[in-house]
Amino acid sequence: MKVTKDRIIEVISHYGIQRGDVVALQSSLSSMGEVEGGADTVVNAFTEVLGDRGTLIVPTFTYSFKVWNDFQPFNLLVTPSQCGAISEAVRLRPEAIRSNHPSHSVAAIGFFAREMVKDHIKCAPLGKGSPYHKLSQIGGFIVLLGVGQDRNPLIHTCESLAQVPYLCVSWSNTKTGIDIARSSDDNGTLSEVEVREVPGCSKGFVKAEIVLRERGVIQYTKMGNANIQVMKAENVVDIILEKLASDPFFLLCDDKECQICTRRRKYGKAKPGAVPVKGSSSH
Ligand SMILES: [Zn+2]
Repeated sequence: MKVTKDRIIEVISHYGIQRGDVVALQSSLSSMGEVEGGADTVVNAFTEVLGDRGTLIVPTFTYSFKVWNDFQPFNLLVTPSQCGAISEAVRLRPEAIRSNHPSHSVAAIGFFAREMVKDHIKCAPLGKGSPYHKLSQIGGFIVLLGVGQDRNPLIHTCESLAQVPYLCVSWSNTKTGIDIARSSDDNGTLSEVEVREVPGCSKGFVKAEIVLRERGVIQYTKMGNANIQVMKAENVVDIILEKLASDPFFLLCDDKECQICTRRRKYGKAKPGAVPVKGSSSH
């Protein structure tokens, strides 16, 4: 059966999303099965529920690093989102505002759009002051539509807020902990930007789901064939920071072949004073 706009509105309204809310949507269109009107229908459903005073945010990450994307440069106006058809549909809306971050830009529509994307370039990709951190501070929601917690950028925000002891281990394994991203301006002039605290592997974030589920902060439902998780961003941050305070490595994956998690665990455990102080979870 085709998923319609009315059905999407019915589901998200039932699970607590209302007019005026701020929602960060992570999604997989194909997971839903057949959607009447495609990605735009999903975007229309969300903006209709959120109304004039609501805000919708999507990741439009471009991963413009040498190690991930062979330096495909980020251009604010033209580089497509690497985060699926729904995020690309938001980016292409005339009213969308995209943040100017060379690796982890987001696009936002609505009342707080400008505020949410502001100064992203000055922050760690998903760290303090980034759009996902702001989401947790203004009572926003995370909606995972057809994707799991391993695609929840807010868990990376928690790693950064907790200052877990492995943050400085970058993908390119430099001693500085910096990865270089490349961006281009309208004239095609390329520039290289130093990025700190680049998010690592997120396969281990499925363990975060277990913790969040036990604390009862995830609402589960279905839309078409897709599983949906809805949660308040501040609940996620509070609970994951609490967990990281007692076990700073719990978000790293357990795959022995995973190079970055292996390097991060090894570096972090060798670092003197690696275990963060409990008080660091305040925000
Ligand atoms: Zn890993």
